[in-house]
Amino acid sequence: MQIHSKLPHVGTTIFSVMSALAQEHKAVNLGQGFPDYDMPATLIDLVTAAMRKGYNQYPPMPGWMPLREAIVEKVFDLYRADVNPATEITITPGGTYAIYSALTCLLQPGDEVIMFEPAYDCYQPIIELNGAKAIILPLQFPSYTIDWQAVQNAITPHTKAIIINSPHNPTGTIITERDIRELQKLIAQKNIFIISDEVYEHIVFDKQPHLSMLRYADLRQQSFVCFSFGKTYHCTGWKMGYCIAPPVLTNEFRKVHQFNVFTCHTPTQVALAEYMSNKEAYLSLSAMMQEKRDFFMDLMKATKFTLQNSSGSYFICGTYEKISGEGDKDFAIRLTKEKGVATIPVSAFYQSGKDDKVLRFCFAKKKETLEAAVDKLIHC
Ligand code: GLN
Repeated sequence: MQIHSKLPHVGTTIFSVMSALAQEHKAVNLGQGFPDYDMPATLIDLVTAAMRKGYNQYPPMPGWMPLREAIVEKVFDLYRADVNPATEITITPGGTYAIYSALTCLLQPGDEVIMFEPAYDCYQPIIELNGAKAIILPLQFPSYTIDWQAVQNAITPHTKAIIINSPHNPTGTIITERDIRELQKLIAQKNIFIISDEVYEHIVFDKQPHLSMLRYADLRQQSFVCFSFGKTYHCTGWKMGYCIAPPVLTNEFRKVHQFNVFTCHTPTQVALAEYMSNKEAYLSLSAMMQEKRDFFMDLMKATKFTLQNSSGSYFICGTYEKISGEGDKDFAIRLTKEKGVATIPVSAFYQSGKDDKVLRFCFAKKKETLEAAVDKLIHC
């Protein structure tokens, strides 16, 4: 039997590869982005309570209404966006799934989608699974900013969408008001949609605002905005998220969603709906993660790594030219096996494998974990 692969050039994701290697070599895992500290016990109790109360059958296909209502309140508080819970919000099993469904309901064979590299690894495969073409533009190294003239030049009659990701995985950069203005000019009166990956919306540092597409009436009209509960409540394994899009887009999104997962885990939605009234939980997240970033950056001064800046997300990138001239994949593998610290080689986020000799470190970890990692990195 032979199967004709739809993704012939795709292997197992770098996150799975590095986590498995970390486990095999008992390395400290600063690779895959997930917290190693406990999630809120209250939220766990709320899920258990929901199950005991009998919330164990299908909720409505687009999601548990009180949860959608809690999201409405949050996005109004934070972004002054007036969102309709019945027609504009769909609860999803995670952010990646939301991005998948948005691209899938949108794309026709031959369409083009503009995206930037380094890029979170799911975008291009999803585009290609839908018979569309990824038009990949580089973020400018080492600032990782968008070259808007290049974007303008890349637009063709086939351009269907553009993928924006802020705070950015893997680089930790965020978009600015200038980027927003350029994006507004670019898509004005064009049939170009925005897929906005905002899963790190609550992790933005140095008192900077998160520039959600939901803040801008014109951008919002053309956007699928994708969010994650896992990043917000320290439970990435729960695989819960949501997508906000205008009614016409949400209608198409749900056509795909209803024949895929259909709906999400009921007790978790019931629990999240209640827990979201604790606004401090997400409002305090930037400060909590900023402390971790600063703690890690400070420790890393004792090593030969040179860290870049991180304005948001779980991640900070760094170069190692004072340690080795190896390619980043070889170096990351050796670092895991020989020094006991797993990271992610940033070349994995380029289709071409472009190697600027940069590693991504995840600092969403306990202080002891960060200390244990740096104790090992000092010996490089
Ligand atoms: N978002 C996580 C990261 O960037 C990984 C998620 C996954 O493993 N698919 O590390």
